[in-house]
Amino acid sequence: MRAVFDEHGRRSLIPTGEPDAHFECDEVLVAVGQDNAFPWIERDIGIEFDKWGLPKLDEKTLQSTLPNVFFGGDAAFGPKNIIWAVAHGHEAAVSIDRMLNGEDLAVRPAPRTRLVPQKMGIHAWRYDNAISVDRRLRVPLRDISAALKNIKIEVELGFDPQLAAKEAQRCLNCDVQTVFTPKLCIECDACMDICPMDSISFTANGEENELRPRLRAPALNPSQDLYVSETLKTGRVMVKDEDVCLHCGLCAERCPTGAWDMQKFLLEMTHAGAGCRSAGTQTASA
Ligand SMILES: Cc1cc2nc3c(=O)[nH]c(=O)nc-3n(C[C@H](O)[C@H](O)[C@H](O)COP(=O)(O)OP(=O)(O)OC[C@H]3O[C@@H](n4cnc5c(N)ncnc54)[C@H](O)[C@@H]3O)c2cc1C
Ligand code: SF4
Ligand code: SF4
Repeated sequence: MRAVFDEHGRRSLIPTGEPDAHFECDEVLVAVGQDNAFPWIERDIGIEFDKWGLPKLDEKTLQSTLPNVFFGGDAAFGPKNIIWAVAHGHEAAVSIDRMLNGEDLAVRPAPRTRLVPQKMGIHAWRYDNAISVDRRLRVPLRDISAALKNIKIEVELGFDPQLAAKEAQRCLNCDVQTVFTPKLCIECDACMDICPMDSISFTANGEENELRPRLRAPALNPSQDLYVSETLKTGRVMVKDEDVCLHCGLCAERCPTGAWDMQKFLLEMTHAGAGCRSAGTQTASA
């Protein structure tokens, strides 16, 4: 066999015509990959399949070439994971609801977003913001002698509630955002001094290429946007490099005016039902 990769990096094994090779073995463990197979779908009902045997679908609506048939999960685009399977289910349900109500499937309802301040007191937050360098906790395993005696025994025991809570403490709080309000800033530079990552710089504005290397921590990853505030009273701007921010909240704790706030970002996808229909709701074009 010879491995050939297409333009998407997808591998196919092509027979080279060489003679079969035989290997003597005591035992063979078969490790199979997972694949889709739809032999039970008649090929003349209008559902088209691609060269990989996967149904041809609209990526956004999950609609097949037979308009009233939708696919989701591993059956849609091949093996993925549970997060994708659930997301496909949501999107397909929205498509089906819109189709049954005579609405355009390509118009997708906009998700709702909210930012919620996390401050409770001067130094207290609604989320755990302690910086920890804890390594990933190991999932407890069953005693090896018991596991080896019975192939049907489950080896990973899973976290108990205490261990699960400890593991959850390692969360990086990516959902909590640093929100800056320029008009409240008195340019005391305290946030810049306290930031453990040198994520914040107060400096003269400039062209991006020239600005990036002169930040307190040079922001050399051009794929990560910088946040550049409007011009402040002294003529400087506040520049934040999100790439290195720990979401620790020290800037917001230190700020005497509340110009920095830590706000939880909530994204709510629209579910199938009245809310996903164009009639009477806010929608966004695909
Ligand atoms: C070994 C392994 C480990 C994985 N680990 C993870 C992981 O840790 N995290 C993660 O997110 N994902 C993981 N995945 C991927 C995840 O399991 C799949 O992406 C997910 O289960 C897909 O969900 P699904 O509903 O699309 O399909 P499935 O869960 O495969 O459900 C399809 C169902 O349809 C049934 N079915 C098939 N044909 C027919 C038919 N003709 N008639 C009626 N019923 C039929 C099947 O029996 C099955 O119950 C793993 C996958 C494998 C194989
Ligand atoms: S949250 Fe922490 S790391 Fe991020 S900018 Fe504020 S002080 Fe710096
Ligand atoms: S601590 Fe607050 S007021 Fe001071 S520079 Fe930072 S944002 Fe502005």
